[in-house]
Amino acid sequence: MKELDKSTLEQLKNSIKYAKENSPYYKEKLADIEPQDINCLKDFQMILSTDKYDLRLVYPLGIQAVPDEEVIRIHSSSGTTGKPIIIPYTKQDVDDWAVMFARCYEMAGINKLDRIHITPGYGLWTAGIGFQAGCEKLGAMAIPMGPGNTEKQLQMMVDLKSTVLCSTSSYALLLAEEIAKRDMKEQIHLRKGIIGSERWGDLMRNRIAAELGIELHDIYGLTEIYGPGIAIDCDKHEGMHYWNDFLFFEVVDPETGKAIPEGEIGELVITTLRKQAAPLIRYRTHDLTRFIPHKCSCGSEYPMIDRILGRTDDMIKVKGVNIYPGQIEDTLKKVSGVSSEYQIVIEHYDGKDRMTLRVERTPDADASAVTLKVIDTFKKIIGIKIECECVDIGVLPRSEKKTKRVIDKRYD
Ligand code: ZN
Repeated sequence: MKELDKSTLEQLKNSIKYAKENSPYYKEKLADIEPQDINCLKDFQMILSTDKYDLRLVYPLGIQAVPDEEVIRIHSSSGTTGKPIIIPYTKQDVDDWAVMFARCYEMAGINKLDRIHITPGYGLWTAGIGFQAGCEKLGAMAIPMGPGNTEKQLQMMVDLKSTVLCSTSSYALLLAEEIAKRDMKEQIHLRKGIIGSERWGDLMRNRIAAELGIELHDIYGLTEIYGPGIAIDCDKHEGMHYWNDFLFFEVVDPETGKAIPEGEIGELVITTLRKQAAPLIRYRTHDLTRFIPHKCSCGSEYPMIDRILGRTDDMIKVKGVNIYPGQIEDTLKKVSGVSSEYQIVIEHYDGKDRMTLRVERTPDADASAVTLKVIDTFKKIIGIKIECECVDIGVLPRSEKKTKRVIDKRYD
């Protein structure tokens, strides 16, 4: 990583000072850290990172760094495993988030005349309301649908002439398939898709883009750091621009937490530079990405990270080999006749791991040829032998939220 410039260093020192003086959690965590002793990136990276597990220990509001009367809202992570994490926001935090989100829409070429169809959920988690606040800040028309009720979604999309679809990738695919099935493409006015909240591969991307006839942008964010809206790709799609006036990004080795050479894949770690109610210093996102070293050809000064390539927690170990979901997608991309959907089943048989990759074949593809090709390509790319089961298109599960792709039966 590049050495810190003077102004970034100053901002980081201020963040540390602020967190240490105001957040009960950081008062303890940073007890031995003096901001004036931080004078380079290496000094900064000596500070212990904060993880979601640490935040769960101070549930519900041990992170809060302002008096109660300044907190105007809370959000919470979904908490699918363990206790949720509660993040408080001040008025400035909510406003800063909307500013960043509006900047995302602009970066994606969306303007006041757009009609933004918002399908992520509203409520405790940060999705729907973030898309909404950013849309209002931009001055476009928000169509606050929330998830589900595909019938109603399509009706509103046609009647109100929605131009931008905000959703998860799996829900966008579900809508695209529904629109194709009903032969409604001519009635749809969508021109852009803002897709967030789960990692998705090129095959899925191409199918959604082709079936809806729209340009897709990846939006990134997490509840602990405001929510979605902290990074997005522009029309050049060379990486996701992020807002380095609000946030400081590092990419580290997920196993050791140590710095890695610029451009290598690792875990994204974020420090907030302006957050009042819940400042975070070196927060581990568990998302895998890398810095894009060059400047984007769009001319923007905002730096870029790559698309999210996986979660450190999704890394699966089969027959002693680490496998990231991104590698599975790379494999499928190289095999013609398979769709973007897949499922992995891992079992333990006779003292050995057995992995079965379930894929969908396109209507004209031959199932046994696809099966052999998947097995062969997987062995070449990842180096282990697997089983493959080829099913018809539409057989594997789709969901409105996040699609569960790995079923690990080894520990049942
Ligand atoms: Zn750009």
